[in-house]
Amino acid sequence: MTARACARARDELLRGGDRVSGGAARHLATCDPCAAFAARFAAARHGLRDHRTPVVPDGGFAARVTAALPAAETGADAMSRAALRLLPAALAMALLLGAWCWLGTSTPASLAASLPSDDVLAWVLENGS
Ligand SMILES: [Zn+2]
Repeated sequence: MTARACARARDELLRGGDRVSGGAARHLATCDPCAAFAARFAAARHGLRDHRTPVVPDGGFAARVTAALPAAETGADAMSRAALRLLPAALAMALLLGAWCWLGTSTPASLAASLPSDDVLAWVLENGS
């Protein structure tokens, strides 16, 4: 028996219960570990199917269970919490952007310093069209 054949037979058994293909049935009949697995699976299925509890819940049981559960979170709550988590990063980005804009803005002094010399300006005025 190969591990692959065992896995295929067990998978078919778990999916189909008593209804397995001929190949899986032959494998289960000839492979002792898989036969033991099938026997345990059948015992568990029968145990669960035959299980009966003597306690019958009253009419308010479902309401009490629902009331004991934490309140369901709405989509708006999740979005608010996510936005609050991102707030420090957003503030840091705003500060960086503000500093970058403030440092990058030209002042009158820096503009005057970047003007071409008087000779260049005179040449442009004389030769420009
Ligand atoms: Zn097997």
